[in-house]
Amino acid sequence: MQLLMMGPPGAGKGTQAAILVKKFSIPQISTGDMFRAAVREGTELGKQAKACMDAGRLVPDEVTVGIVRERLAKEDCANGFILDGFPRTVEQADALTKILDELNLKLTRVLNIHVPAEDLIERAVGRRICKNCGATYHVKFHPPKGDTCDECGGELYQRADDNEATMKKRLDVYEAQTRPLVEYYKRAGIYAEIDGRQPIAKVTADLEGVLTSLH
Ligand code: ADP
Ligand code: AMP
Repeated sequence: MQLLMMGPPGAGKGTQAAILVKKFSIPQISTGDMFRAAVREGTELGKQAKACMDAGRLVPDEVTVGIVRERLAKEDCANGFILDGFPRTVEQADALTKILDELNLKLTRVLNIHVPAEDLIERAVGRRICKNCGATYHVKFHPPKGDTCDECGGELYQRADDNEATMKKRLDVYEAQTRPLVEYYKRAGIYAEIDGRQPIAKVTADLEGVLTSLH
């Protein structure tokens, strides 16, 4: 199963992808996570990505497509994967089609989590992530039981780009560069939209409903 999880920043893509990974035993491929890992490692890619991320801009297409091409060629993707946060431009979507053609694969479903813009800043500003295992929390909507990660006890942190000013820029970038992909994938006939304003478990149930209706 080759899934693509779409939606604006803060819609809940990562939260839902992490749940589906456990259910279907396929990897989550998050370009945002890959860039954050490169920033932590201090590589050249990390330096380039950090400048873009801090400004709320997209990392250039050729860089992003390159890391996804390498990742999708790995063996653990052979039985499927969940793309989360890629593609974000029409150029990336065209490149993805080519990469999948080369691998003899097709996207099974594009799942777009819809959340109105007015909710997204609160979602991002309240997001907290575990430094150790990457689990995602929200101070109000999905709080951890204590000050550390419920899963592993790791320290929780706030992303540098999860502030109101950067988030506004990220939402503008989404409107200008990523929203056109909705029409792009609607035309491909594999598109489904899910109401992301519902509680996390209900969003998961709706996603699973779409996926089971495939068979
Ligand atoms: P994305 O990967 O789309 O940027 P995340 O999955 O990281 O979004 O979610 C953004 C924030 O919103 C996180 O703090 C997460 O805990 C919270 N969140 C995710 N899904 C929901 C939901 N259905 N209702 C309320 N908050 C949610
Ligand atoms: P995310 O974790 O998906 O919210 O992404 C965080 C940041 O990483 C974005 O604001 C971009 O700067 C960068 N990024 C993530 N995915 C992509 C992508 N597909 N194309 C370009 N930049 C990306």
